[in-house]
Amino acid sequence: VNDTIVIGGGFFGLRVALHLREHLDVRRVVVLEREAETMSRSSYVNQARVHNGYHYPRSILTAYRSRVNFPAFIEEYADAVDSSFQHHYAIARAYSKVSARQFALFCDRIGAVHSPADSSVRRLFNPRTVEQVFQVEEPAFDSRILRDLLLARIRAVGGIELVTGVEAESLEQNVDGTLTVHSALADFTADRVISAVYSRMNVLHRRSSLPLVEIQHEIAEMALVRMPAELDGLGITVMDGPFFSCMPFPSKGLHTLSHVRYTPHYRWRDGSDQVPDDPHEVFAGAQLPSNFRIIRSDVSRFVPALARAEHVESIYEVKTVLTKSEHDDSRPILFRPHHGIANYTCIMGGKLDNIYDVLEELNLLYGSR
Ligand SMILES: Cc1cc2nc3c(=O)[nH]c(=O)nc-3n(C[C@H](O)[C@H](O)[C@H](O)COP(=O)(O)OP(=O)(O)OC[C@H]3O[C@@H](n4cnc5c(N)ncnc54)[C@H](O)[C@@H]3O)c2cc1C
Repeated sequence: VNDTIVIGGGFFGLRVALHLREHLDVRRVVVLEREAETMSRSSYVNQARVHNGYHYPRSILTAYRSRVNFPAFIEEYADAVDSSFQHHYAIARAYSKVSARQFALFCDRIGAVHSPADSSVRRLFNPRTVEQVFQVEEPAFDSRILRDLLLARIRAVGGIELVTGVEAESLEQNVDGTLTVHSALADFTADRVISAVYSRMNVLHRRSSLPLVEIQHEIAEMALVRMPAELDGLGITVMDGPFFSCMPFPSKGLHTLSHVRYTPHYRWRDGSDQVPDDPHEVFAGAQLPSNFRIIRSDVSRFVPALARAEHVESIYEVKTVLTKSEHDDSRPILFRPHHGIANYTCIMGGKLDNIYDVLEELNLLYGSR
């Protein structure tokens, strides 16, 4: 019998496994990951933004949590953090849900530094469509380095077995209170199970007759682009409405280009009759022609040089949010201890820095050393 089984070897599963060993007196942890490699799904295919609050002017709580978690993330993963570029947030003149003045006030309220962009940068923006440009402090992370850092710590701490290429198919409680996870390879038994499977949470719940969690999904396209020289050392986020971001994607040495309107290809509520229950199955079956050209034509209205951005490839992933985050764009964590059965906990974070909120909850649940 293991102490804990963690289902899902993404950033959350790996980091939680480490925390159990390092701080919660757990002797043996098994991590089950269905892909051949850990951190190959949403923890790799994402925008790589280390959130520092700026992105959430409509959810002060989320912005504030990001501000609290940011220094911890930067310190813990210093080698994976890329601060070599200047990040700018621009406020659009039309259709923006915040004005430049409101954005500056919001940054002040959450204590996030901002200053007017240098004139050399300001000149890159179209003054007819962009009201104001702020230089901010918001770096990117290199997901591959992040994974290497976590795997090195996992090896060093010992007591964590990573089993890849194995899907946890279902979960049940035994008469002695232990939990057994069934897979095609073997059955794994432990005192506790933590699920960190992100978009596939309800797949496991349905097969285990556990209550479902209210989540919704979209298939998101991250267009990877080569920037024209004048934009290469920059990150640009245009707020707050149907606009775009263009940020370094350090693990490929390219930029991601994403757009609020055109990045999502398809949205659905988990459990909807029209689609298979497994979001990865929806993803695998989807026809995904790139939206890059329409994105490029829209974004060059704000930054004319983006018309020369060169599309290298697009990577796609299922993005999942809690249904209740829909209205205020917040990204609270899901943390459900004893979900349906004793000692089964399911977790989900809407962004990487939410990990610290999850670890705090785990400390409360299991008692920190
Ligand atoms: C397009 C996009 C852009 C984003 N941009 C950002 C950003 O800029 N900054 C930020 O902080 N966050 C961003 N996010 C969110 C962030 O990527 C996620 O919050 C985070 O990666 C979730 O980590 P995870 O470990 O829970 O999920 P994952 O990395 O997806 O890991 C879950 C793992 O569980 C495995 N699994 C699933 N079912 C089973 C099973 N039954 N048995 C065994 N294994 C299973 C999967 O194969 C997967 O490897 C973005 C997400 C997307 C999709």
